[in-house]
Amino acid sequence: MSSHVARHQTGDPQFLEQRFASRAAGMQPSEIRSLFAVASRPEIVSLAGGMPNLSALPMEMMASVVHNLIMTNGAEALQYGSGQGHPKLREQICDVMALEGIRANPDDIIVTTGSQQALDLISRIFIDPGDVVLVEAPSYVGALGTFHQYEAQVVHVSMDDQGLIPEALQQAISSVRNSGRKIKFLYLIPNYQNPTGVLLPADRRTEILEICRNEEIFVVEDNPYGLLGFDKASPNAMRAEDSENVIYLGSFSKTIAAGLRVGWALVPPSLKEKLVIASESSILCPSNFTQLTISNYLANQPWRDQISSFCELYKVRRDAMLESLEQYFPASSTWTKPGGGFYVWVNLPPEIDTKLMMPKAIVAKVAYVPGTAFYADGFGSWAMRLSYCHPTPERIREGVKALGHVVDQEIERRRSGFQITE
Ligand code: PMP
Repeated sequence: MSSHVARHQTGDPQFLEQRFASRAAGMQPSEIRSLFAVASRPEIVSLAGGMPNLSALPMEMMASVVHNLIMTNGAEALQYGSGQGHPKLREQICDVMALEGIRANPDDIIVTTGSQQALDLISRIFIDPGDVVLVEAPSYVGALGTFHQYEAQVVHVSMDDQGLIPEALQQAISSVRNSGRKIKFLYLIPNYQNPTGVLLPADRRTEILEICRNEEIFVVEDNPYGLLGFDKASPNAMRAEDSENVIYLGSFSKTIAAGLRVGWALVPPSLKEKLVIASESSILCPSNFTQLTISNYLANQPWRDQISSFCELYKVRRDAMLESLEQYFPASSTWTKPGGGFYVWVNLPPEIDTKLMMPKAIVAKVAYVPGTAFYADGFGSWAMRLSYCHPTPERIREGVKALGHVVDQEIERRRSGFQITE
């Protein structure tokens, strides 16, 4: 046997760096991923991850869907399928989207391995290094990571408690264009946004669509949470109002099961071919097995009732979180009051750095995601995202109470620290 040890096996990082493509430099672990190892320890109340809660999904029913699929249509389910996605599922996806006012042609849908893959495909066909992608401030960490990998410059556009501000969008477009850079698309999450939980009202949707049409900028509407409204239905999807300039992303991860990894993109017809080719080159075709599982589930099970059960489950948790924030967080902090989805965004006094505070929270047995994870530019150090989707209401109360105490101590420490140095 040769005694030769390849240089990359000796752990020489420079040796590997010279061999990687330059785009690999943008492939960094997300802050959320590195947090998960700690946050998933059983003694920690994790308000960090956005994992859907499957306790309301009847497992016997899912087992019978899968069993019937294999027994009646196993040869198709276990075979390769179409690169664009199964035709029957694409028709059913049109029925799901109709709930949000979208009238679509199944031929304009590309089924993807979760909507995360759709984000990757869109980035691949649109972004050259240095191109600008406009996003909300703050925005979904998984999308920021994808844009970063394709070497986009991410420009954040201000939000308030009603979502993206149209005037701020117009200003951002002018200032990017004045600097000579190209804008490829606006990416936004109009319903129960990740990470703020905010809902964009109908009039702002119309204004934003108009600005983007006039400025010839595509809108990427990412909508995994639209059907998870607790109090009232969300406004129609932006795609319902504009079929030519909106690329719509949907997902079954939050309404059925994330583990099946089925999402989709509904695109203007002129974009379809490029996206299908891009998808085929990464995965050949989405899984027939999971697509047909979803298809049979939609065809034979009361899926709308199931979504209502999920909403009930999340609403109770949202209430537990908002009540305990009121009870245990200092008056100097503010937070969003989501009408659906998974997340609350908390702003603490500006002297607090939530990333530096994290080890203290872990000692107090609670985890959250620091605000900076949701910005491409280091902003958000005084903010945090709290998820209420997964723990029980009791655990949420326990976690928010412990975190409120950590925040109080941190404020106290900072203030007395300032006095000493003054
Ligand atoms: N977009 C947003 C806003 C999300 O929150 C998530 C998952 N947390 C995704 C896309 C990706 O979801 P999936 O790939 O499971 O469809």
